[in-house]
Amino acid sequence: MKYPKDLMNEVLFTRKQIVARAKELAKAIKKDYENKPLTIVCTLKGAVFFFTDLMRYIDNDCNIEFMKASSYIGNTTTSSGQVKLTKIMDFEIKNRDILIVEDIVDTGYTCQEMINFFQENGCNSVKICTLLNKPSRRKVDVDIAYVGFEISDKFVIGYGLDYNEIYRNIPLVGVINPKYIK
Ligand code: 5GP
Repeated sequence: MKYPKDLMNEVLFTRKQIVARAKELAKAIKKDYENKPLTIVCTLKGAVFFFTDLMRYIDNDCNIEFMKASSYIGNTTTSSGQVKLTKIMDFEIKNRDILIVEDIVDTGYTCQEMINFFQENGCNSVKICTLLNKPSRRKVDVDIAYVGFEISDKFVIGYGLDYNEIYRNIPLVGVINPKYIK
């Protein structure tokens, strides 16, 4: 790995732990959506690694879609609170059961915005599955059906999560050393 050795203060979850947890969550999702055609929406860019882990263990009748959600501006570690949603390709929402896959739920604004979007467009149901949850940072109350791991209020990178668009390709989740935050 070309990144500095002291980039992270702490490793929180290894790839092995994440894959094992994805397998458990997939099992619950499979059961909950048995015999229901499902649309699983990957939130770009952060959720992409977790999403592919999860999808490998879900063998239900489902289609996969992608949406981009952004709330951070430039090299900050806090959300702007203004969420911009972009559908990558057009897909059917009306009467569909939607499962949103997120990397992390922090303030909850992104999830809230996505839930509103799908409900306003006539979905049958919408639920959230997230790799990480930071409940102590919540600003809006969102119901999260499937949670990989709960973490405390620390800025994490790796496994899809970035700081200023880098570090997404680190194959584990860790806490960034503040020395690398500009
Ligand atoms: P929310 O709208 O819940 O505040 O934030 C959701 C988005 O903020 C996540 O999808 C993620 O992109 C970003 N985010 C929140 N906490 C962290 C964190 O600890 N590390 C990184 N890299 N991104 C975070």
